[in-house]
Amino acid sequence: MKNIKLVKSNGKDRTTIKIGEVEIGKGFVVIAGPCSVESEEQTIIIAEKVKEAGAHLLRGGAFKPRSSPYAFQGLGLEGLKILARARSVTGLPVVTEVIDPRDVTWVCEFADILQIGTRNMQNFSLLKEVGRVPNPVLLKRGMYSTLAEWLNCAEYIMNEGNPKVILCERGIRTFETYTRNTLDLSAVPSLRELTHLPVIVDPSHGTGRASLIEAMCLAAVAGGADGLMVEVHHNPAEALSDKEQALTPDQFASLVRKINKLSSFMGTLQ
Ligand code: PEP
Ligand code: MN
Repeated sequence: MKNIKLVKSNGKDRTTIKIGEVEIGKGFVVIAGPCSVESEEQTIIIAEKVKEAGAHLLRGGAFKPRSSPYAFQGLGLEGLKILARARSVTGLPVVTEVIDPRDVTWVCEFADILQIGTRNMQNFSLLKEVGRVPNPVLLKRGMYSTLAEWLNCAEYIMNEGNPKVILCERGIRTFETYTRNTLDLSAVPSLRELTHLPVIVDPSHGTGRASLIEAMCLAAVAGGADGLMVEVHHNPAEALSDKEQALTPDQFASLVRKINKLSSFMGTLQ
């Protein structure tokens, strides 16, 4: 693969990224929370539930890159303040999306990990900006991107000086319409050959259907992923975004029990 230097495997040790007690790339990590931060009450209820179920990090969008300009765009600064409160209540570090290069520096004051979404994977000015901050970056795969294009985007971030990049497979567009995207689980072992960076899987956006998430999570664990990102809502029917793919807290708790069993079994195979 051409032009990939910093992200390339080279027989180097695998990168691990420490955020508080959590070490991404070492133990198996589960990131969970709502698609969007909707209110303080909603976020704290969900944060407490996912923490109780065993999640290691809280996710939630304050800036939502929506297909329609009329759809809920997120609470912005207010959403970030809510996430910071949810972190202080639960102790869970926070992952949130940043969509504008002008916001990167100040969003770092509220977020532990900055997420770059699928629509911005090749927003090179945004990539360079997150390459200049100390926070780890969760880089989602572009929905039309090859592994080479994706790894080049990670290279952009690392080339600016930030070595803390986590790759997140979230599905790609294909001719299939039953699922929202086609979750490319072969990306997981492929990336393990190509790069030393940790790889996590997001079956929520990868399938768009709550009923398929458990099977895809377990398949991701079996395929060697370093972690998962899952959308959870205490009342999916009322969610302001991505309601079809949100798990309830009970479904999430049952999923985590299965993930833990399977990942400890996987450990016995190594
Ligand atoms: C999200 O994580 O809520 C999101 C918008 O994801 P993606 O960029 O993968 O669509
Ligand atoms: Mn979402």
